[in-house]
Amino acid sequence: MAYLGEPHRTVAVLQKYNFHVQKKYGQNFLIDAHVLERIIEEADVTKDDFVIEIGPGIGTMTQYLCEAAGQVAAVEIDKNLIPILHDTLSSYDNVEIINEDILKLDIAAFAREKNSGRPVKVVANLPYYITTPIIMGLFESHAPIESITVMVQKEVAERMQCKPGSKDYGALSLAVQYYASPKIVANVPPNCFLPRPNVGSAVIRLTRHEEPPVRPEDEALMFRLIRASFNQRRKTLVNGLKNASELTFSREQIEAAVTALGKPLTVRGEALTLAEFARLSDCLSGQQPAALKR
Ligand code: SAM
Repeated sequence: MAYLGEPHRTVAVLQKYNFHVQKKYGQNFLIDAHVLERIIEEADVTKDDFVIEIGPGIGTMTQYLCEAAGQVAAVEIDKNLIPILHDTLSSYDNVEIINEDILKLDIAAFAREKNSGRPVKVVANLPYYITTPIIMGLFESHAPIESITVMVQKEVAERMQCKPGSKDYGALSLAVQYYASPKIVANVPPNCFLPRPNVGSAVIRLTRHEEPPVRPEDEALMFRLIRASFNQRRKTLVNGLKNASELTFSREQIEAAVTALGKPLTVRGEALTLAEFARLSDCLSGQQPAALKR
């Protein structure tokens, strides 16, 4: 098969369709066959799998996915790429091309409908400008997803994998680690893309936990506390939570909860583990309803 994962083939397709790359859609097409093979291998795609690909571009990774998977659904926002995809994927009968904005799709309903409720795998070279909303949207939708294997900006991959105390530890690290085990499986330099991005990239695999590592009484409150503590990184946890517009706990309530955790009142949010945020949330959730602003 004439795989697209070679620079001259990608250039030929772009020229044939007189296609101009859209920066606003984060279009950086993969042109390295080794990287493509590695992604498919790390995603552990087999003929038993239903794969959702976000942003197929001209269909480069989609070809590899069609070869390896049972079924593929490829969701692309750019309508100008749709005729190109129909051409480059014409020899496959196990792919559906969908012209949609992934952020507007009801991903849980979509995944359930496509694979009769069985878990799907998500594999993508993501548009970097919306990495966080895509990842959080996939998790928060509670869609039946077994794993997410994606190319992202290197720093973002590192943030997802970070542990407490490091400078990149934040709300994204905690949210990702609540839902999944992250593992960076490859670093990818800019010359593997056309056009070259001006940042380094990495492939990260997020394997969904069967059971979450912590079970807060009120998951939504735990995430509000997490966001509030990292919105004001330089402040102590007590001040960060006191000043947060989406929370209305009194200083006394917050101080009592921090003390109950066994932490000094000067502690910062970045020192807390996921388990500690869950306990903090449980300490405060009893004091919630009247105090919570919606
Ligand atoms: N998969 C291709 C590859 O590896 O060569 C292209 C990857 S490129 C980094 C990101 C792709 O996501 C582009 O095709 C872009 O048009 C598409 N995209 C951007 N925003 C999107 C959105 N909101 N929903 C669906 N696709 C989107």
